[in-house]
Amino acid sequence: MHGGFPETEPPIAPELQLPKRISRLPEMAYNLWWTWHPQAQALFSRIDFSLWEEVRHNPVQFLRKIKRPQLNAALSNVNYMESYDRVMEAFDRYLNASGMWYSRENPDLLNRPIAYISTEYGLHESIQGYAGGLGVLAGDLIKEASDLGIPIVGLGFLYTLGYFRQSMTEDGWQEANYEPLDFANLPVWPVLGRDGNPLTVSVSLPERDLAARLWQVRVGRIPLYLLDSNVESNSPADRELTARLYTSEVEQRISQEIILGIGGVRALRALGYNPTAWHLNEGHSAFALLERAREYVAAGRTFEDAKEIVRKTTIFTTHTPVPAGADEFPLWLMDKFFSQYWPQLGLERDAFLDIARHKHSWGETFSMPVLALRLSDHANGVSELHGRVARKMYNHLWPDLPEDKVPIRHITNGIHTETWLAQQMGSLFDRYLGDDWRERIDEQAVWDRVCDIPDKDLWEARNHLKRRLAAHMRDRSRQLWLSGKKHPVQIVNAGVLMDPNMLVIGFARRFTMYKRAGLLLRQPERLLALLNRPNLPVQFIFAGKAHPADDPAKRLLQDVYRFAKQSETGGRFVFLEDYDINLARYLVQGVDVWMNTPLRPLEASGTSGQKAALNGVLNMSVLDGWWREGYNGRNGWAIGEDKENQTADVQNAQDTDSLFALLEDEIIPLFYENRSPENIPSEWVDRIRESIRTISATFNTRRMLKEYACDLYLPAIRQPFPEIGDASLEIPT
Ligand SMILES: *Cc1c(COP(=O)(O)O)cnc(C)c1O
Repeated sequence: MHGGFPETEPPIAPELQLPKRISRLPEMAYNLWWTWHPQAQALFSRIDFSLWEEVRHNPVQFLRKIKRPQLNAALSNVNYMESYDRVMEAFDRYLNASGMWYSRENPDLLNRPIAYISTEYGLHESIQGYAGGLGVLAGDLIKEASDLGIPIVGLGFLYTLGYFRQSMTEDGWQEANYEPLDFANLPVWPVLGRDGNPLTVSVSLPERDLAARLWQVRVGRIPLYLLDSNVESNSPADRELTARLYTSEVEQRISQEIILGIGGVRALRALGYNPTAWHLNEGHSAFALLERAREYVAAGRTFEDAKEIVRKTTIFTTHTPVPAGADEFPLWLMDKFFSQYWPQLGLERDAFLDIARHKHSWGETFSMPVLALRLSDHANGVSELHGRVARKMYNHLWPDLPEDKVPIRHITNGIHTETWLAQQMGSLFDRYLGDDWRERIDEQAVWDRVCDIPDKDLWEARNHLKRRLAAHMRDRSRQLWLSGKKHPVQIVNAGVLMDPNMLVIGFARRFTMYKRAGLLLRQPERLLALLNRPNLPVQFIFAGKAHPADDPAKRLLQDVYRFAKQSETGGRFVFLEDYDINLARYLVQGVDVWMNTPLRPLEASGTSGQKAALNGVLNMSVLDGWWREGYNGRNGWAIGEDKENQTADVQNAQDTDSLFALLEDEIIPLFYENRSPENIPSEWVDRIRESIRTISATFNTRRMLKEYACDLYLPAIRQPFPEIGDASLEIPT
């Protein structure tokens, strides 16, 4: 669909070849379409469920390991073969469909690709290339681009070590284990040049050139290219540059960002892409804008002209509402890495540094978000409140404008509905929302039909999902026990004593201080009393990883873990290790209440609560990020007030009181009291319907990406500016 660009097909290794009747399973494995089609995943898991779990739902590794007898059993199973045919037909229909939303609206623009650049992609648990919400958002956006037929080409990293796997010591200290990824076992394949060798691009680092190769991932219709510096011609240290996400070592970090930004532009050129709009997901990739300007300067334009063209065609999404979170580099480091580069822009040192110079009380830096804002005409925050915060934070870049005129708008984040929807809820929606609801996910009228779902059906689906979560926790506990490395109390801590009939509250996300995982622990006696009230128990499940260099967050994690280990909790307050997309799915589908306690306004948007709402889980959250827009007084609960003027200490104390009061006075009684003769809490179920109805139509990537396309991509694409054609462009080697 990217019109005329070379699209390589995954090479299917000989050992992946299967009997003819099911010979298309490898083809399916190599297109991440299966990540949002449970029936496609079932084509693998039904052959050998234990193996599917063992390989962490990775179909390529699965096909390498599957044994002949299991395959034969599937081949002779009529039901299996019927599903196989049905799913393959749906897969073909999806890939060959024409007349999707974008092409209906813009038939003339299908061969004008949009480049999307992100340091992380959270596409599936088997590809560990994400740390948290930013990556999951990027993964969900790519899937939605495929659904809508938007010609996006994605760019990122394939990390050789991925993000770490988390293991907790008995005393609650987080250990980070990095498992080398075997790319041969992932649904990715190397991009080859015309000569049949891996295609590489080159960037200059101090005193050397670095080569990076490219891997391709197919996400439905969308190609995603991932850079990897593990190339033989690089030094051993350089081969490790793209091993880990977000290293804290500053020279490694700037090198990574040069590879992503500058190497990324060169990669797309080498692949023959000539994007007409460029979307940067956060500032990490903003060096791409310098490289694009360099191309125009090399083609004979002035830097001022080049800058103008780049600005008109760039979309920048900021996600960071605090200056301290901004990605920036000391000027000595810029000298070291860019003194060869600024002459190529036709600039002197000062003029170059001025592009993104950021003054602090202690000195100056080169700021990546400032670079991105200065070189993009289209900038946005990720919720209404965050848009406001970003305009205030960056007002200094537009000193002549009042705060509300600062050209940063907002587009509130969403989730890819089919990725996060439990199958059980999906079947319920199939029955009550109309046959075509999956094509009309962003229409309110579709979701208004949720009112027709009877209490009994909805409550049954909810209980099914809670039992699934409980079974999953038992499995995890058993695996930990079998590992022989855990103390018995850690097995209890993995949720083995949780009762799916009782109220369950979930909290899972990155452990970082502003998310305040410890809010409940500020009043430990009150919390213990809540956990064990006769007939009205509450159970809490916590999960999340702290960045390995974030010691305060690791200590907070330890506080949570130690609290959970006390016998006084009765096993009703637990911490699950190694939070990832798989565990996220179980949790956002399987708890009753999703708790979120950010220190407002630091959440930017958040998305996990949207996943919860879709599945009939009620949100209890601070009015920050998306929830400030989603909450209507009847579809969940608000912790604290709709303001943030106090100090953090005051805010912590107030929010803690508000949180306990909500639990004690509203949430727990609503769950347990006034049950119907069938033992259904009707008012709770009313609230679930209201939550699904009012949240699902809006807080999804369908609505979100249409906004990006209509409001930001199309104005950029329809610029009358000259493009850099292949002919005029020399790919630097
Ligand atoms: C959705 C998701 C997130 C984002 O969660 P927030 O609560 O919005 O920060 C982070 N990690 C994983 C694995 C997710 O699935």
